[in-house]
Amino acid sequence: MNRPIPFGLVCTLSFAFAVFAPWSKVSAFFQSSDANGIPEADGSLQWWKGNLHTHSLWSDGNDFPEMISDWYRQRGYHFLAISDHNVLQEGSRWMSLKSIQVRGAKDGLEKYRQRFGVNWVETRGDASESLEVRLKPLDEYRYLLEERGRFILIPSEEITDRAEGKPVHMNATNLAEVIKPLGGKTVREAMENNLRAVLEQEKARGREILMHLNHPNFGYGITFEDLAAVMAERFFEVYNGHPGVNHRGDDQNPGVERMWDLANHLRVNKLGGSILFGIGTDDSHEYFGKPGSRPGRGWVMVRAQYLTPEHLIRAMKAGDFYASSGVSLRDVQWDPDRRKLSIAIQEEPGVTYTTQYLVTTADAELDQIGRIAHSTQDLESSYRLADGETIVRAVVTSNLAPVDPIFDDQKQQAWTQPFTTVIP
Ligand SMILES: [Zn+2]
Ligand SMILES: [Zn+2]
Repeated sequence: MNRPIPFGLVCTLSFAFAVFAPWSKVSAFFQSSDANGIPEADGSLQWWKGNLHTHSLWSDGNDFPEMISDWYRQRGYHFLAISDHNVLQEGSRWMSLKSIQVRGAKDGLEKYRQRFGVNWVETRGDASESLEVRLKPLDEYRYLLEERGRFILIPSEEITDRAEGKPVHMNATNLAEVIKPLGGKTVREAMENNLRAVLEQEKARGREILMHLNHPNFGYGITFEDLAAVMAERFFEVYNGHPGVNHRGDDQNPGVERMWDLANHLRVNKLGGSILFGIGTDDSHEYFGKPGSRPGRGWVMVRAQYLTPEHLIRAMKAGDFYASSGVSLRDVQWDPDRRKLSIAIQEEPGVTYTTQYLVTTADAELDQIGRIAHSTQDLESSYRLADGETIVRAVVTSNLAPVDPIFDDQKQQAWTQPFTTVIP
């Protein structure tokens, strides 16, 4: 049964995800805090679960942002960025009930009223013909949903651009001001222009902003060479839960995970640049159970002490996070001196896991890029790079299908970041 705010027990779920690392550096089961819930000065790192790609009625999603935020919060997510197309959720916005219903949200208003109450939901106009509903800005509704150390909302935009007739979509997380897509003569130029605008805002505002390249195989807009060439872009979606993003590629185009290895070989081994990190997201639009891009399919787990946008983004910029479509990790450690990647899986009863270590050498031929150098069913495992090997990442695949798969025979996975011995 749905009742209006305030929330009661939903936040208890959060700690189910506050998994701990068993190996010395990260040791607390959950963050130690004082009576007011403020983390202790010497508190430990923990994993925070979040989704950085979501749509609402502010662009082409089909539910109210409060309802969407509530969905994620109740399922144990710690952070959510609703990233509508070319807009931040700010200012005055009314939407006709008819256009809300056309989106597939037949009983959307009713559910919104049931959950948040008639005193929260604002409408105007004639009840039968011209009824409009107010879409509330983030700065207004966030007070209803956020809770320190449990759940935060981060302002975001999907900068939705085109170049050379191809889609170029880039998410900017923790923006202060909307950025209009800047375009460019080529895909790469559009990526670079939008990245520059974000970097300028980051500097001018003195805040952390994270930009990531979305669904490269959507419309086959972005090639692995593009991902390699635009060195300022350090993040992309290795997993996007929208069924239309060609995750596995086709006869002509590599799958997204393969593109990751190809791009990193070029970036690190050929161009002297930095690693491209991989993010998991939902890109959800559909919240009423119909086929399409539904929530809950892809996310990131970020290791940080505090649940703030700045701490999460700094951790991601340092590569201390992994992407998931269902598998949880207790720990990921890269030891640069020993050139060794180690992981520990958060086991679920009755589930088996296969961990593959994908490795690339400096002079790898095409078919040796991202070669599987080690495969194991152990819950804790590691791989030490041999001479000449420069990049390693691990992917863990469970024997279970995801709760809501996007393609046939899909299994739950977790992707660590790639690590390299090459200092750019
Ligand atoms: Zn997009
Ligand atoms: Zn999107």
